[in-house]
Amino acid sequence: MDCHYWPEGVKKRVEENNKKEMRHTNFNTAEEQIRKDDLIVVTGAGGFIGGSLARYFHEKGFTGIRAVDKKPVDQWYQLVPGTENLCLDCCAEEACRQVCDGAKEVYNLAADMGGMGFIEHFRVECLRSILINTHMIEAAYRAGVQRYFYSSSACIYNTLLQQDPSVRALKESDAYPAMAERGYGWEKLISEMFCQEYWAERKLKTFIARFHNVYGPHGTWDGGREKAPAAICRKIIQAIDSGSGVIEVWGDGRQTRSFMYIDDCVQGIDMIMHCDRLIATPINLGSSELVSVNELVNKVEKIAGVKLDRRYDLTAPRGVAGRNSDNSFIKQVLNWEPNTTLDAGLRATYAWIQEQYRRRKAGLCVVV
Ligand code: NAD
Repeated sequence: MDCHYWPEGVKKRVEENNKKEMRHTNFNTAEEQIRKDDLIVVTGAGGFIGGSLARYFHEKGFTGIRAVDKKPVDQWYQLVPGTENLCLDCCAEEACRQVCDGAKEVYNLAADMGGMGFIEHFRVECLRSILINTHMIEAAYRAGVQRYFYSSSACIYNTLLQQDPSVRALKESDAYPAMAERGYGWEKLISEMFCQEYWAERKLKTFIARFHNVYGPHGTWDGGREKAPAAICRKIIQAIDSGSGVIEVWGDGRQTRSFMYIDDCVQGIDMIMHCDRLIATPINLGSSELVSVNELVNKVEKIAGVKLDRRYDLTAPRGVAGRNSDNSFIKQVLNWEPNTTLDAGLRATYAWIQEQYRRRKAGLCVVV
């Protein structure tokens, strides 16, 4: 378990807890640990992952779901039946108190974020998300919440380890010595530390997952915040629709990434949140299927049944040269890792974006 950076006091508490926990089974989910009418709070629920998580709990039969987002409710990507929907800005302390009131579990997924195009251009906005976790975790602690989940990111990893497309996959200890992605990555790293210290000093059970690129239906697919899989699906659909025969690719197409399908993401969140061996212990939640952007384009072209000319925009944001998730730790602790193949996930995503594209053309309401 020494693959992490532990602030003073955190390691001791984690080890004591692990000794107790080893006597029990390895992992649980919400279904085994809380009642169906206990209050679950999901922030960022108007967005991609938060909305999907609220739906996941609803489909598991949970009835006390409070969904929160700063966007007006009519702009949320998904509306889940039976949830309490609140439009509140979690950068404000008072709002966070209202959000956490009476909650058993809090899943904090609110953040001002997007793909490389967004996080390279809006570093201040990304850094300001520190206010969200700062107030949310304090409010959760004061409300006596049992468990608190924080959505961190692979962008916390040392960028010096990601300078080649054929990278070694990143393991949890690669966060330190720290040289995170400017703006967005540093905010996530400091928020992780808040979670570790709230456990060390105040015994709030916190759980921290480092997501690696999540994609799937109900995610942003246009407008500047979309990520590579959605952007490529949209560009190919557009090229087919316009008959241009061309796709613009950001960078030289050789940069590599792994992509996790949304269903794996929400399942992983549930398992991590209910595993006491993972208290205050950051863990990768991502796929380990590494592909280059060119390979991603090949896959989507195959689904769409086209072959396009590629124009490479070498001035566009491209992020680090390569990044993959080392899943040794999650496999060891949960005996599980995200396992939806990229081909299967892309097929579902492409079909959904195609439908969104058609709806938008017909003047109907869509997710962007
Ligand atoms: P998203 O942009 O679709 O959803 C985030 C939501 O948070 C948005 O609906 C936004 O309106 C809301 N929000 C922003 N500021 C808020 C505030 N002050 N108060 C209340 N709501 C606010 O993004 P997502 O992809 O669903 O990401 C969810 C979480 O996962 C974020 O913390 C993100 O940083 C993290 N993450 C996502 C990915 C990914 O690939 N999608 C990768 C790594 C980490």
